[in-house]
Amino acid sequence: MKAQMIDGKLIAQGIKGELKNKVEVLKRQGITPGLAVILVGENAASQVYVSNKKKACEYVGIKSFSYELPAETSEKEVLDLVETLNQDANVHGILVQLPIPKHMDEQKVILKIDPAKDVDGFHPQNVGALSIGLKGLVSCTPAGVIELLKRSHIEIQGSHCVVVGRSNIVGKPVSLLLLREHATVTICHSRTKDLEGVLKQADIVIAAVGIPKFIKGSMLKSNAVVIDVGINRDENGKLCGDVDFESCVNIASHITPVPGGVGPMTIAMLMHNCVLAATTQEGATN
Ligand code: NAD
Repeated sequence: MKAQMIDGKLIAQGIKGELKNKVEVLKRQGITPGLAVILVGENAASQVYVSNKKKACEYVGIKSFSYELPAETSEKEVLDLVETLNQDANVHGILVQLPIPKHMDEQKVILKIDPAKDVDGFHPQNVGALSIGLKGLVSCTPAGVIELLKRSHIEIQGSHCVVVGRSNIVGKPVSLLLLREHATVTICHSRTKDLEGVLKQADIVIAAVGIPKFIKGSMLKSNAVVIDVGINRDENGKLCGDVDFESCVNIASHITPVPGGVGPMTIAMLMHNCVLAATTQEGATN
């Protein structure tokens, strides 16, 4: 094994520790950050994510408000709940766990969230702010990728970053963030011609494809940094990423494992966004 492991769990723990201190400072000013989490239906993976988010809130000192609604809840009921939470001064962040049942319009629900409380960073106002370099709430997984790189002392400026995947929740925002950090960014997707040729030029590879073990060591340049956003199950039902860890670990200089890489960072950055949202809404000093 050649590559240095990027320990997302450890880095996320460090971030949560810093946030815990910030929350103590806020509490001394009479402010308790509050996060409302809405879960509609009984998706098993979503239930695990929501329970991990609640645990992280408890650790950091954020008050969590939980709304677990049956799958047959109407779109209007969800929109009304979001509106109530928009008006609730104890709630600084609102998160609707995706995916939501098919009878609801996901975009309509996201649009309903007050952009100042949109801790997932999915509202078009926050996405627009990111794209033109204004302040706003940045979506958690992409922000987590940047923190992993920075806290591992990996030079982003001037590096050629190849992002595989162009989704609204990972590929596009992580590309914008890398650009903001002065990287040269190439975005690849399912219709990219000669993906391997592009990957061979990458100093940093961000894999967000959703296909188990898709990126192989033979596709990488020697000493590339590999960040694996993927969360999949392999043929034996074992958790794995979008990167074939076994073949890449001998070629890369740094690599994230799955689990224990990007995953824990997503939750840490959600906590970061809640604290930021509370600080901004309350006009607090932190
Ligand atoms: P998605 O399905 O929305 O997007 C996948 C992207 O990959 C698409 O843009 C598509 O063009 C591209 N793609 C598909 N086949 C390709 C191919 N053969 N060659 C090149 N590109 C190809 O997925 P997503 O929501 O962006 O998620 C990506 C992965 O990240 C998934 O495994 C998901 O589970 C994971 N994920 C993890 C976290 C986390 O917290 N760690 C958060 C979100 C998503």
